[in-house]
Amino acid sequence: MARRRQIYEGKAKILYEGPEPGTLIQYFKDDATAFNAQKRGTINGKGVLNNRISEHVFTLLGNIGVPHHFIRRLNMREQLIRQVEIVPIEVIVRNVAAGTLSKRLGIEEGTQLPRTLIEYCYKDDALGDPLVAEEHIACFSWCSQDELHDIQDMAIRINDFMSGMFAAVGIRLVDFKLEFGRLYEGDFSRIILADEISPDGCRLWDMTTNEKLDKDRFRRDLGGEVEAYQEVARRLGLLPEGGDHTVLDLDSHRKKRDK
Ligand code: C5P
Repeated sequence: MARRRQIYEGKAKILYEGPEPGTLIQYFKDDATAFNAQKRGTINGKGVLNNRISEHVFTLLGNIGVPHHFIRRLNMREQLIRQVEIVPIEVIVRNVAAGTLSKRLGIEEGTQLPRTLIEYCYKDDALGDPLVAEEHIACFSWCSQDELHDIQDMAIRINDFMSGMFAAVGIRLVDFKLEFGRLYEGDFSRIILADEISPDGCRLWDMTTNEKLDKDRFRRDLGGEVEAYQEVARRLGLLPEGGDHTVLDLDSHRKKRDK
């Protein structure tokens, strides 16, 4: 069998040519990086969990009318997606102060923000994905004003939906990163949600214990990365585990599992 053509390799994913024109295969790796790839590691099984979690979230977002690139999951690590032209902006949505926002402005981590904050970073590894303003986006034509409005509207809808989805299983959606792309239809293009939504790009805190259930476990050497990602998948009802979807904190979960 001919080897598939690799289109792109990122830090956590590989894109291969898809079976039909306009499609790609998105492969989820176990590789983890942080601080602009200065810290590298492997989280065994992360790719499988992220593939499944991202499938779930994109499917639910599609159900409420958010256009996206996901077509279907192919196997444990791969999903079929629509090929888009990625807008070179990372859209960061924040509900609670954490991470670089806390550092930059001296706001204590965990402080509820008075309103949802949307920030933009220019996607450029060599520059370390710098924070930019809407004016930079317009000045350098990274996307049009209409496209940016669509992105903002979608980001707010996605945040509202995901905040509720996670709250229902005892998780606070602190912040997350989104990427969007242009889907060309003839001479026209429209903006759709792309990339992935998983604990790699979200801050997810247990609502009662504030335990971190996301990539901060790796970034901050807290350990238990796989358990945390599994716990998110389990609470979302994505692990077979005898259909027990009760919300537990990680300690009780470990105790229950090790019994
Ligand atoms: O590091 P910072 O606080 O700016 O991250 C905000 C949110 O965006 C976090 O949920 C983080 O996981 C996500 N993010 C990401 N990829 C980046 C930068 C941030 O997924 N390159």
